[in-house]
Amino acid sequence: MEKISIVWLRQDLRTEDHPALDAALKRGKVVPLYIWSPAEEGNWPLGGASKWWLHHSLKSLENELRLLGLPLIIRQGKSLDVLKKVIQETHADAVFWSRRYEPESIKRDIEVKSHLTEHKILAKSFKGNLLYEPWTIQNKQGKPFQVFTYFWKACLNQEQDFPLLAAPVPAKGKPIEIESQSLESLELLPKTSWDEGLAHTWKPGSCYAKEFITYFLEGGAADYENRRDRPDLPGVSRLSPYLHFGEVSIRTLWNNVVERLGAEQGECYLRQLGWREFAHHLLYHFPQTPLEPLRSEFGHFPWEDEERFLKAWQKGLTGFPFIDAGMRQLWMTGWMHNRVRMVTGSFLVKDLLQPWQKGAKWFWDTLVDADLANNTLGWQWVAGCGADAAPYFRIFNPITQGEKFDPEGSYVRKWIPELAQLPNKWIHHPWDAPADVLLKAGVTLGDTYPYPLVNHDEARVKALEAFEEIKALK
Ligand SMILES: Cc1cc2nc3c(=O)[nH]c(=O)nc-3n(C[C@H](O)[C@H](O)[C@H](O)COP(=O)(O)OP(=O)(O)OC[C@H]3O[C@@H](n4cnc5c(N)ncnc54)[C@H](O)[C@@H]3O)c2cc1C
Repeated sequence: MEKISIVWLRQDLRTEDHPALDAALKRGKVVPLYIWSPAEEGNWPLGGASKWWLHHSLKSLENELRLLGLPLIIRQGKSLDVLKKVIQETHADAVFWSRRYEPESIKRDIEVKSHLTEHKILAKSFKGNLLYEPWTIQNKQGKPFQVFTYFWKACLNQEQDFPLLAAPVPAKGKPIEIESQSLESLELLPKTSWDEGLAHTWKPGSCYAKEFITYFLEGGAADYENRRDRPDLPGVSRLSPYLHFGEVSIRTLWNNVVERLGAEQGECYLRQLGWREFAHHLLYHFPQTPLEPLRSEFGHFPWEDEERFLKAWQKGLTGFPFIDAGMRQLWMTGWMHNRVRMVTGSFLVKDLLQPWQKGAKWFWDTLVDADLANNTLGWQWVAGCGADAAPYFRIFNPITQGEKFDPEGSYVRKWIPELAQLPNKWIHHPWDAPADVLLKAGVTLGDTYPYPLVNHDEARVKALEAFEEIKALK
């Protein structure tokens, strides 16, 4: 009798270079299954922007699977319960999946694996989302690396050849037909339509991931090193949501970059993929870090929980144009440039003294690429409390960062139209502009655009004083 395997799809929403799907197809009949189980994500159920992405990504996956003669089965509920039911309905004798590295997923997967194994179902997980498994990269003492350079060197001392799996061929014979919920029944799309900006900016799905790769490799990639810090230029790949949802395999991306640019010219970009690996490695080894600082003295930092500050930051109304442009780009498109993530994050934590966890939560809800590993690393880096983080005393100046990385002010003008008529000289600090310049540009501070929420120089001194309070606890 032909063997039947369930492929339990999670953050690997593609059909190409998919080890779990490949293994299942080689065994016999395949039942691709997506289980919507937000309660199993612990403190981090998908935010609104990610849910929007997931809806469209599943739709695209449905089409991709259909071309292989495989109907996608969608169900909702506790993963183990759903798996048991689908096993019963299909008579499957195996469940295959790609590993995830978030603490709640690991806990759940262990439970699933042990239950299935106990019941004589073959349960097998695969490396589908990373280049290197976190437990394979260790320092000489057998401990996890906490400094990126050493981590990445250790990775590169291992395998750098990532052969891709052959493209899947359509399944023979009749597919296994069981009931599936409709995608719409998961209610992933917002009830009130705030998602126009997302729809205008993105096309989720594997085929579009490929388009993004080609566009990047034929455009910005060659000058990535010089342009990657410039939010006003199209210098980065914007592949983060596709990578998060596994719409392209990391191996495919790696190989494309190496083939097109060569390992040397591609080094700077490949290193960013290394940061992604590092983030997953850290989350795996330090599972408490989404909510707790890796450096424990930061648990005593005298944060000021000020709702007014948090709200102004979230809405892009701090009065600092570079910060506000970033926060509005995030709200409108579900994405923000990396340089601006660093500067807006630093502003919340150091100028406004708000807890980094509140920033992480807001990003989680609003980013289409919200990723527990990368978001945690990013926020702990910004706050200076994580592995290989920016030292706390290095405080980004939101004005000079704007002048350096958006020299013509075009990024600010794009996202803050009310400042569009200001000359370059004042675009990053309108409060210094002479009254007649403001008048001519149609800017009335305190009315059309806010006054700055804080004085950066004073805020900097205050932040350093707060840091002094915990320095001794190290
Ligand atoms: C406060 C903060 C929060 C962040 N939250 C997230 C998040 O939730 N999800 C997310 O994917 N990234 C996050 N990042 C990392 C980074 O900003 C994004 O990965 C990047 O901006 C995505 O754009 P891109 O695909 O054009 O990047 P590119 O510059 O084209 O880089 C290619 C890929 O490398 C990886 N990468 C690049 N930089 C980093 C980095 N610093 N850390 C980890 N991986 C990296 C990403 O997968 C990215 O898609 C965060 C950074 C900060 C400072």
